[in-house]
Amino acid sequence: MVPLISLNNGVRIPQLGFGVYQVPEDQVAGAVTTAIEAGYRSIDTAAAYYNESGVGDAIAGVPDLFITTKLWNSDQGYDSTLRAFDESMRRLRRDVLDLYLIHWPTPSRDLYAETWRALEQLYADGRVRAIGVSNFHRRHLQRLLDEFPTVPAVNQIELHPLLQQEELRKVHSAHRIVTEAWSPLAQGTLLGRVEIAGLAEKYDQTPAQIVLRWHVQLGNVVIPKSVTPYRIKENIDIFDFELAQDDMTVIAELDNGTRTGPDPDRFNAA
Ligand code: NAD
Repeated sequence: MVPLISLNNGVRIPQLGFGVYQVPEDQVAGAVTTAIEAGYRSIDTAAAYYNESGVGDAIAGVPDLFITTKLWNSDQGYDSTLRAFDESMRRLRRDVLDLYLIHWPTPSRDLYAETWRALEQLYADGRVRAIGVSNFHRRHLQRLLDEFPTVPAVNQIELHPLLQQEELRKVHSAHRIVTEAWSPLAQGTLLGRVEIAGLAEKYDQTPAQIVLRWHVQLGNVVIPKSVTPYRIKENIDIFDFELAQDDMTVIAELDNGTRTGPDPDRFNAA
C-alpha cells in the first residue's frame, strides 16, 4: 500500500503517483488504466501535457483517486487562471480537483502572485481541495508567504539523486510545504550508474526501485512516469524493503547539481 502524506490543510496525498508528461493523448488512457490496476491512486497531469481529456477517460467513475493538474504559463493572471481551471476541469470531467499547481513561476512576466490570488479563490470556493506551486525557487515562495494568507501545500520541483535540492527541502519543511519530486528518475539517465546498480544487486531490486525508495525514505512525494506495463508495476512495488542509512548516504553523494529540465528563473515559455 502506498503511504499517504498529510498536506498543511489536512488533505492527504499518496506518496507515490503516476506522472503522464509526454504521454500522447491517444495513449494516456491506457497507461493510466494500467497504473490504476497496479494500485496507483494519484495521477499527475498538466494543461501543457495536452492529455487531460485522455486522463479524464481513464479516471471516469474510479473512486478514491487524487488528481493533480497544473496551470500553464500563458494562462497566468487572475481572470485567465479561473478560465483555464474551468477548461482543465471540463477536459478531466471532475467537479472538484484534488490539487492545482502553478506550473512555473515565469518571473520575467511577474504574474505568479496574481495567479496565486486566483488559486486562493478556487480553494475558497471549494473547487479544489489543495493548491500549490511547481518549480518555485525560495524567493518565489517567500513572496507568496509574505503577501498571501495561504501557504502552498506543495512545491513540485525537479529532484533526483543528481539534484537533491537540500536547501529548498529545508525551506519546505520550515513552512510545512510538501516536496514533490518531478523527474524522480532523472528521466532514466541515472539508472545505469554503478552505485545504483550496486545497490540494486544488494537489495535484489531494480535500479528504478532503489531510486524511488530513496525518495520515499527522504519523505518526498514521487510521480515516476512510464508507459511500459511492467515498469509501471515495478515503480510502485517499493514498499516492502528499506535502504540502510549507509546506502542512503551512497546515494546522497551522487548530488552534482545536474538538471534534466530548465532553471525556473530562466524558463519563460508561453
Ligand atoms: P522520470 O524521472 O519519471 O523518468 C521517466 C523515464 O524513465 C521513462 O520515460 C523511462 O524512460 C524511464 N523509466 C521509468 N521507469 C523505469 C523503470 N522502472 N526502469 C527503467 N527505466 C524507467 O521523468 P519525467 O517523466 O520527466 O517525470 C515524471 C513526472 O513528473 C512527469 O510525468 C510529470 O507528471 C512530472 N513532471 C513535472 C514537471 C514540472 O515542471 N512540474 C516537469 C517534468 C515532469
